[in-house]
Amino acid sequence: MKNKKVSGQVQKKQKNVTKKPKEPSISHKYTKFNANILDEHPHLKKYIKENTDSCKFTCLGCKKNNFPEAVGYYDHLIAHLETGKHKLAVEDDPKEIEEAILAIQGFRKRKKKVMKVDKAILDDERVEITLFLLKHELPFSLSSPQQNL
Ligand SMILES: [Zn+2]
Repeated sequence: MKNKKVSGQVQKKQKNVTKKPKEPSISHKYTKFNANILDEHPHLKKYIKENTDSCKFTCLGCKKNNFPEAVGYYDHLIAHLETGKHKLAVEDDPKEIEEAILAIQGFRKRKKKVMKVDKAILDDERVEITLFLLKHELPFSLSSPQQNL
């Protein structure tokens, strides 16, 4: 109810003002659909498809039932799977859906980790510095505190 009121007011106001062109950058706020996520769980592979809008997905289960929620932003994929409508629309067990949600969470976490500096590289660096200091008989205090030797 509240939302309806607000949008009504906005529409009235806009009538008097020259219409602003739609912001083209709005889709940049959303993550692009990553098709690799579909390999994470059979439930996703079965029902989730990439949309023509690169930031959106199409849910085949919900589409079959003509639910308007069948298309949504990739960022909101977990929220979509959690909806009662989605659970009604698909033949899979709710347990499968829960597993799929966990798979998505795991997938997104892994992606974040990759973006950080690989720990193995840091460890390699530490070993190299240690060997250098030993070879030249230098004190460990010469290494930077961040190296944690
Ligand atoms: Zn759905």
